[in-house]
Amino acid sequence: MTELLEKKDAQSIEVSRVSHWIGGQIVPGESGRSGPVYNPAKGIQTKEVDFASVEEVDRAVQAAKEAFTTWRTVSLSKRQEFFFQIRELVRQRRDEIAAILTEEHGKVVTDARGEVQRGLEVVEYACGIPTLLKGDFSEQASTGIDVYSIRQPLGVVAGITPFNFPAMVPMWMWAPAIACGNTFVLKPSEKDPSASNYVAELLKEAGVPDGVFNVVHGDKVAVDAILEHPDIAAVSFVGSTPIARYIYETGTSKDKRVQALGGAKNHMIVLPDADIDMAADAAVSAAYGSAGERCMAISHVVAVGEAGDRLVAAIKERLPKIKVGDGSEPEVEMGPLVTREHRDKVASYLDSGPAQGATLVADGRETSPDGDGFFLGVSLLDNVTTEMDAYKDEIFGPVLGVTRVGTYDEAVRMVNENPYGNGTAIFTRDGGVARQFEFDVQAGMVGINVPIPVPVAYYSFGGWKQSLFGDRHIYGPEGIDFYTRGKVVTSRWPDPATSKVDLGFPQTR
Ligand code: NAD
Repeated sequence: MTELLEKKDAQSIEVSRVSHWIGGQIVPGESGRSGPVYNPAKGIQTKEVDFASVEEVDRAVQAAKEAFTTWRTVSLSKRQEFFFQIRELVRQRRDEIAAILTEEHGKVVTDARGEVQRGLEVVEYACGIPTLLKGDFSEQASTGIDVYSIRQPLGVVAGITPFNFPAMVPMWMWAPAIACGNTFVLKPSEKDPSASNYVAELLKEAGVPDGVFNVVHGDKVAVDAILEHPDIAAVSFVGSTPIARYIYETGTSKDKRVQALGGAKNHMIVLPDADIDMAADAAVSAAYGSAGERCMAISHVVAVGEAGDRLVAAIKERLPKIKVGDGSEPEVEMGPLVTREHRDKVASYLDSGPAQGATLVADGRETSPDGDGFFLGVSLLDNVTTEMDAYKDEIFGPVLGVTRVGTYDEAVRMVNENPYGNGTAIFTRDGGVARQFEFDVQAGMVGINVPIPVPVAYYSFGGWKQSLFGDRHIYGPEGIDFYTRGKVVTSRWPDPATSKVDLGFPQTR
């Protein structure tokens, strides 16, 4: 968690304040607690974000609860119109949102635009809400009796999101949740909070009524207040595995519906028959894009047989060409890490890896740009084994590990024995082996010659094992399921002349 800063911290630049968004307006925090927001490329604090108290979270929930009574009655076609408008505004402001992401997260601006675009796809999916909420109808299920199903919203629902996708992951939650007729309280990461407030203003501009979308900023206090709140029906969480487990266990013990997506260790298997240049391009792009701070990043390559030497050489050759620096500069390909603390933790694997027997092929500490930014250059560890910390931990930085194995079976066993099961990929020219892989592998999202297989918006996103607690994946059809509950109506419009008393159990006739 972000350490609390006293506001008097000596800073020569002006530090602006990020406050909550409740009931359609900015509400300055009154808890007296707050945390720093940095520009990671410059290594300086630029903002201070308010941390909500239990009472402030309650205020947001009450605003959402009040809004729910009317929002759930808004017709599907009107909700659809709101979503067309939201879609248009996000599209128009894509660059503004991306600039906020680059400033607070550090990712390069093209990557930030891509993040907004992938979030926008979920908004576009939500534009189809009249179709998505269609139920079933069985005429004459029994003589004179019709049966039909409807899906209704849950009420006030909450989202708790990670630092690495400050716009896209909240969109995965609020778009389907609101489209289904729920009202929403978002608790974004305290490390990069501003995009959420920007989006809140944009929803207001689109005409979404006050209280339908609220933002509370903060730390564990705000999260626990959400988990404990009796008026919150469901919680969506995306973040690290230990916190995901905590959210799932605590939220469900308070009778909430919970989907909690956790961390990852995504393996890319490269078979000897693969196009090695294509596999190296893919591994480098997927490992170092967004400085490795993606839950779907390829963090580990499993090279089978004689693919190993050729692949490591091809990856190594590509590394010096990657331009690392301030993500707001157009030619830069990889930005800094989100905080100094996280940068130092990631760099520590470049000591522990070799100390435990790995080969340090590229040391990003030697190629980090100068200055105060939280930079770490691209790094490559070869000959990593499953006992090493660099394998066991989710590093979440620009450090790619390589393990060499003899056979396809060993490679798949390694993936399946890993406690995470988010994404995985195989690179091969053999369609039969690829098909076998998709059948064998224990992961929620599988790429065949595709390194980052994030599903399109009309499928659902989610991992297996310790990458997801709960049984609904996020967005897509499972997202609609998650944010609604079913009701089945059995109806008869009787002819009074045929009415009689019958104490038997109802049977079809
Ligand atoms: P994190 O778990 O530290 O924080 C996520 C959220 O939980 C934040 O809003 C934070 O304020 C809150 N939080 C942190 N500590 C808490 C605590 N002790 N009690 C209650 N709430 C707490 O994650 P992060 O560092 O922001 O994000 C990176 C992690 O998210 C990585 O593990 C990454 O793999 C994961 N992630 C997963 C997915 C996925 O789809 N599976 C997507 C993106 C990120």
